Formats: sequence, C-alpha cells, structure tokens
Amino acid sequence: NEVLLEIKDIRKYYPVYKGVFKKVVGHVKAVDGVSLFVRKGETLGLVGESGCGKTTLGKCLVRLQQPTSGELLYRYDGSELRDILTLTKQESFDVRQKIQIVFQDPYSSLNPVKTIFDSFDEPLRIHRMGSRSQRKEIIARLLESVNLRAEYMYRYPHEFSGGQRQRICIARALCIQPELIVCDEPVSALDVSIQAQVLNLMKDLQQQLNLTYIFIAHDLSVVEYMSDRIAVMYLGQVVEIAASESLYASPRHPYTEALLSAVPNPELDRQKERIVLKGDVPSPIDPPIGCRFHPRCSKCQDICRTEAPVLRKAAGAEDHYVACHLADTMPILNV
Ligand code: SF4
Repeated sequence: NEVLLEIKDIRKYYPVYKGVFKKVVGHVKAVDGVSLFVRKGETLGLVGESGCGKTTLGKCLVRLQQPTSGELLYRYDGSELRDILTLTKQESFDVRQKIQIVFQDPYSSLNPVKTIFDSFDEPLRIHRMGSRSQRKEIIARLLESVNLRAEYMYRYPHEFSGGQRQRICIARALCIQPELIVCDEPVSALDVSIQAQVLNLMKDLQQQLNLTYIFIAHDLSVVEYMSDRIAVMYLGQVVEIAASESLYASPRHPYTEALLSAVPNPELDRQKERIVLKGDVPSPIDPPIGCRFHPRCSKCQDICRTEAPVLRKAAGAEDHYVACHLADTMPILNV
C-alpha cells in the first residue's frame, strides 16, 4: 500500500526554566529526531517505557503539540505527500479532519456535563456535516457501529461503563470520517476482560472503513495483536522498527530483547530468561552521549559510548531496521 504519512526527523523539545527570571537552562528532548512512515490501511505500533516520547509524538501528529522541527508529510485525498506543518489555515483545518486521536482515559476524554449527542454534534457542526436531523442520524449510526444503542445519545458519560465510554470515544473520533487514527493507549485504562472487546471492535472498524492506525501502548501483547509493524522507542528515538512477526521472533536491539523477555509466553517460558535492565531511564534533558541505551546495555562496547548508532536495515531480514552498532554481529535471537 502507498505511504499515507511520513514523519521526517521530528523533534519536540520543551524548555526547562530556572529562577525568577525564568532563564532557559536546558531542554527536555521528548522526541529527538524520529523518522517513520505509515502505509494506508496498516497499523503501526509504537512501544516503549513511559517517558520514551511515544505520546508526545502522537500529539505532534494530531497537532495538539507543535513539533520543534521536522516534517510531517501527509497524503491528503490521495494527492502527493505534503508537509502538514506548512499548510494554510484552511488546508490545516481540512487535514485535521483526516487525522484523529483516541486517548487512554475514557473517563476524562468525554465532557461530563454534555450529553453524548452534544459531544458528537460539536465536531460535526464545525466540519459542516449536515443539518441537525442528518447529524442525529450520523450519531445514531456511529453509536450502532460501536455496538451501542442509538438512544444512548441522550445520556451523559457517567451513565456508561469504562468499556462503553471508550467505544463512545472511538465513535466520536470516527464522526468526521478520518483516515488515520492515533490510538494512545486506548485500552490500558480498561479491565482485561473488556480490552479484547474494544480491540476487536477497532480491528473490525479498520477493515470496514479502511482506517490506518498508529497504535501507542506499553503492553507488548496488545501491540503485537493489533500491529502490522512496530516501532520501539527509547529516550525520544526509534531504536528498532520491523514487521510484527519479525520483531517478536528475532528482535535485534538489546532494548527490544529486554522488553520482549518480560512478555509472558506460556509456550516458551521454560526456555526464556527474563532480562532485567540495570538502572533507570536517563534524563531526557541530558541524554547519554553515543548510544542512548549504553549505560543500561549489557553488550556495550567502546564505540557505543562515543558514536550514536543510526537506524539501518538489519542483515537477513526484510523491512527490519535497527539502531545498534552490534546488530549484525549478534546471533539472531528467538524470544
Ligand atoms: Fe548496546 Fe552498543 Fe547496541 Fe547501544 S549500540 S544497544 S550500547 S550494543
């Protein structure tokens, strides 16, 4: 499939202030040079520990945060890829309709004093989608598409369970007919028993509506279930990106290897040893020189302390890229 979104060298730095005069003394490098692409109709998983920059990257994509630098190339209505950070106001408005976000917490993402109808009606009105009666019909259809009854539109958020609320949030993201949805930990606030229902619903909707997802999560089993390809982030950068099966069968980066070793797998558990990473994630204000993972890497060499590895194609694998000096010299692992 053709590329729908290409992220080129995106950075998001937040200034750190000190003293009464608010002097800038440094920057939190939340996202620090991420390049990725997403094909139309696929799900790209984004994983990493908290603070690795995955949520900030997601917010940059829907323009809830303005990137400090870089390009976001989007194929609007099948045309050429265009940088959405340099569009006119009207063009930006049109593109915003195409890229939506579903947040982690269904409890805080719905306005408690508005009925579901009002919450849906606002974006529909802003994007001039029909008369009031047509909008009512659209909302009824959307609720039914997430297996909720149409008359629920007159209820308030507190009248629904967590799983129902997240289905409502998904329906609301769909109401202005987006092409790409950034799903930011969409099931992590839900009971495990409800998670599968919501994930399956998202998969069904993706097929029916030809949606493209960027699926952000820290739960690797959930990401594996949902994603065609997965990008692993560490301290604001992508360290490995590969097709889901390739990443899970043979991770090439020591950080991915450690993350995957913590995923329970009943079939392999007896042969598998859990890799415990030493120390904490370093500060994103002053990340380590060279490979950012080197203070925690058991395979660290001299070169790792001075030279930052770049993302390059892994030997012997299609569509598998890794940023590690030793990636090609290490045996292919089977986690
Ligand atoms: Fe470890 Fe070196 Fe690879 Fe970084 S570049 S992950 S420190 S082996």
